[in-house]
Parts: sequence; C-alpha cells; structure tokens
Amino acid sequence: MKGEKKKKIIKTIKIDVDSCNGCRACEVICSAFHASPKYSSNNPARSRIRVIRYPIADIYVPVYAGEYAVAECAGRDKYTIDGKEYDECAFCRASCPSRDLFKEPDSSLPLKCDMCESDPSQKMPLCVQWCLNDALIFEEREEEVEEEVKQEDLEIGLESLANKYGMDKIMDVVARMSTSKKG
Ligand code: SF4
Ligand code: SF4
Repeated sequence: MKGEKKKKIIKTIKIDVDSCNGCRACEVICSAFHASPKYSSNNPARSRIRVIRYPIADIYVPVYAGEYAVAECAGRDKYTIDGKEYDECAFCRASCPSRDLFKEPDSSLPLKCDMCESDPSQKMPLCVQWCLNDALIFEEREEEVEEEVKQEDLEIGLESLANKYGMDKIMDVVARMSTSKKG
C-alpha cells in the first residue's frame, strides 16, 4: 500500500576490486566491531564482509553480506576470471542454506551488513575507514521514496480510531470522503 513521499538516505559502498590487496583488514574490524562486547574478539568468520581470495593471481574480491535466503536458488552463475573458474556461489551476497558463509559460526544465525549502524553513529562504515587502499568507497545520497504503509499499521490505526469515535462515525466519514472525491 502506497503512503506519502519521504526523504531517505541511501548508503552505498562501491568496491574497486583492482585496488584490493587482500589484506583482510575489513574482515578484522567488521568482526571486532560486531563482537559482543564490542572489540572483545576478531574472527573473520563472523565478519559481514568477506574477501574471496586467489593470491597466486593477485585476485581479491570483497563481498558484503546481503539478505538472508530461506532456500537455495535454482539458477547458478559461473565466473571465470583470468582463466580461474570460481565456485558457483563464490560472489553471492546471501546468507543461504547451501553454505556456511555469512553465518555466525556457533549459532548459524545469518549475518548481514548493517552499514555499522550504531549509537553513537560512525562517520563512515568501519571497513571503509580501515581499508588503506581505498578499495571500499562510501557514498551517501538522498532519495525521495514513497513510504509503504503496512497492512498491520493500518489496522492498528483504524482500531484505535474505532475505539475512540465508534465504527459508525468512521464509516460515515469514509462514505462522505468517497462521495466528495467522486463529485
Ligand atoms: S581492507 Fe581493503 S584492501 Fe584490505 S582486503 Fe579489505 S577491501 Fe581489500
Ligand atoms: S559496513 Fe560495517 S557492517 Fe558492513 S561490512 Fe563494513 S564493517 Fe561490516
């Protein structure tokens, strides 16, 4: 259901694969920042960014954890870079049942990049701050989006209005509104 237009900040991290040297500092800081308590450990297996590495050919591809997928997808892609063939799922961002990537190692709970949202907020995502090669470039822009009104929010709103004014009165107002719109 469509709602009113709202300004929304869109955050993006652009990846310059050619600048990545595979140092894995991004994995270290991400896992440390999200450790509980914060900075109490660093374990790249818990990181929300992983660097797919092929050191012999100096190929390093940082991949961010995206949405959780309930089931494996049916279609797969094959990538060949500089003659090396990569696993079908190598560059996928999803936390999915087919592999262990982007899952907490002990609980298997899915991991997703949250752009380091925190209180106090970070001036920039930490992986971007720690990437000394500028392979990760942070961008922020404002977009106007139509806000979705959730069905349950609408129902809660209607219920509280009905409690306050009575259902008959609300139906009466709705009928008047729709008549005036037609006219
Ligand atoms: S910190 Fe930057 S250079 Fe190092 S692995 Fe991550 S993306 Fe690559
Ligand atoms: S933006 Fe933050 S949460 Fe996302 S991968 Fe980088 S350090 Fe991790």
